[in-house]
Amino acid sequence: MRGLNVMRIAGIRVTVDPSWLIIFFLVVWSLATGYFPEARPPIEGRAAWALGVAAALLLFGSVLVHELSHALVARRAGVVVPRIRLFLFGGVSEMTSEPPDPRSEVRIAAAGPLISFALAGVFYAIVESGLPSLAPGGGPLLEYVAALNVVLGLFNLLPGFPLDGGRILRAWLWSRSGSLLKATRWAGRAGSTVGFGLMGLGLFELIRGGSLGGLWLMVIGVFLHQAASSAYEVLLLQDTLAGCRVRQIMTQPVVAVPDHASLEELARDYFFRHPRGSFPVVSGGNFAGMVSLEQMKDVPRDDWGRTPVRQVMTPGAQVRRLGPEDDCVMALQAMVRDEVGRLPVVEEGHLVGILSRRDVMRLLKIRSDLGS
Ligand SMILES: [Zn+2]
Repeated sequence: MRGLNVMRIAGIRVTVDPSWLIIFFLVVWSLATGYFPEARPPIEGRAAWALGVAAALLLFGSVLVHELSHALVARRAGVVVPRIRLFLFGGVSEMTSEPPDPRSEVRIAAAGPLISFALAGVFYAIVESGLPSLAPGGGPLLEYVAALNVVLGLFNLLPGFPLDGGRILRAWLWSRSGSLLKATRWAGRAGSTVGFGLMGLGLFELIRGGSLGGLWLMVIGVFLHQAASSAYEVLLLQDTLAGCRVRQIMTQPVVAVPDHASLEELARDYFFRHPRGSFPVVSGGNFAGMVSLEQMKDVPRDDWGRTPVRQVMTPGAQVRRLGPEDDCVMALQAMVRDEVGRLPVVEEGHLVGILSRRDVMRLLKIRSDLGS
């Protein structure tokens, strides 16, 4: 979860991805060296750079207002948005749950492009009023920001999930099929297709003119394609594992090593007998820690006979553990985040089971085979 926290608006944290800084610089640079020197009358040098920075900041504000509109409409529909992330050419409002119904989804999705078009209208109106011509470069600056808001609104209306247009498509499919999962699969496929389309278009642009715009399109295409496929997978996983508790699928009884056993015994009676990378360690009936093959290998072989397991193990306090009533999706996320294959299940200090990724995958396979 990288990103710089820049502000907090209406209780929503706003973070900027490091990639956004690169885009910020590219926008300033292309405006200061290309757009403003070609304006009439031309603006060059320091003034052009200052206007470039102003335009990039207004663009940043426009993207932020776009995302905020999604977040505030979502909140009214009961969907919590703890964070808005701004990166590359756009932003993401992170929602903790899916919208409650198709109608809310349409409202949440449509708010962003509508606000972008409204902003464009406001900027164009200011240009038309003649006010900006009082300051040199004011007209071209606002025209640029207005045009980019139109582009932002239109781009987001492309019918590929998770873009706003793709969300509207999903809401429509959802209301017709009654299944959010099916709707997400189809809208996600549309998202992948749009992503591939953008990649192709970008490649074509790049070959034809070698312009930066082509590269830009390709990056956005790749991003969209990935986001579309992972959105469906996450939802499928949550749907399939819904209601599952760790105790239902954990492995028990557990093969556990007493903490006083020597590494010699650990190798002979455990690692050679059960093909696993690590074992839980117990002291009395209580969970004491985890010991891995690597930790054993770190000790010279000659010392194995006189080194007890508790001397090399990771102590229990440093091990992430699960409770028997924990949610399976959360448990799987914890294993993926920590890059571990198994986690001990502990209840009131006692080791009651162990949950492996394989346990979760087995359940996933059974449930998807049964189609339930
Ligand atoms: Zn949007």
